[in-house]
Amino acid sequence: MNAVPYIGRFAPSPTGPLHFGSLVAAVAGWLDARAAGGRWLVRMEDLDRPRCEPGAADIILRQLEAYGLAWDGAVLVQSQRDDAYAAALDALKESGAAYPCACTRSQLALAPRNHEGEIIYPGTCRNRLPAGAIARAWRVRVPDLNVRFHDRIHGDLQQNLAHEVGDFIVKRADGLFAYQLAVVVDDAFQGITHVVRGADLLWNTPRQIHLQTLLGLPIPVYAHVPLITNAAGQKLSKQTLAPALPETGRRAALTQALAALGHAPPADLVGAGAEELLTWVVAHWQIENVPTRPAVANPAQAPDNLPDL
Ligand code: GLU
Repeated sequence: MNAVPYIGRFAPSPTGPLHFGSLVAAVAGWLDARAAGGRWLVRMEDLDRPRCEPGAADIILRQLEAYGLAWDGAVLVQSQRDDAYAAALDALKESGAAYPCACTRSQLALAPRNHEGEIIYPGTCRNRLPAGAIARAWRVRVPDLNVRFHDRIHGDLQQNLAHEVGDFIVKRADGLFAYQLAVVVDDAFQGITHVVRGADLLWNTPRQIHLQTLLGLPIPVYAHVPLITNAAGQKLSKQTLAPALPETGRRAALTQALAALGHAPPADLVGAGAEELLTWVVAHWQIENVPTRPAVANPAQAPDNLPDL
């Protein structure tokens, strides 16, 4: 038995098959959990129904299996969890932390933006809805205080939510619950102790810590692994037309993922099978050695000449 309980998770959005960037996040989370003797869960974040692609969730699970990333227990599916999110929103409404907002996207178009390009909500509906306005979404109030947290890769960080984010959305105008709310409700429900995910979500963490504090939920330990970009420096995503993970040449993709995570396997493992490769990394995994800098996916190196994993 492991003295320190560890429950990690991988939480893909099934908007398409996994690409190299999502493989890096999955491998890092799997390794961190296995190296700690912990559990590793999978959660399908199909909250944003219009963005999900039919069949993508199954494809993702098959891809994880193909890469040797076995998960524990049943897969939690966010589209079946509306009652839990509604209960959390009710709690925020009852405490006065959440308020209705009538602002449209175009009304906010000129609001200042933060370094991530997100609108900093100017607080238009914070005290009351403007006369005659119709509530569309729900926002949660943020305090003018620094939220401090420790990231296992990026170190000690802080963000002033009032200055850099503003009151943020917990239920969208289209009636869908927002990612920020669902993720904290589900991380708590699944007993997640350690979150390992892509660095594109680093600056979502203070919002999530704020919600965990308001809802009395435990705050997991966070680690944000390097973002993977294409040669043009864009984050790999469906929008930037990132290719699905290769079905052949998996060894090369896995080796490249480990290199991006600062754990390139030694030369004597060239030619090793997936299982041997993963066993070696589990034994050598040091999350503090994972670099903070983004890595460039190099598709030219992806297929290798060795037999497939
Ligand atoms: N579903 C999110 C994504 O695919 C990840 C959420 C998380 O790990 O907190 O980007």
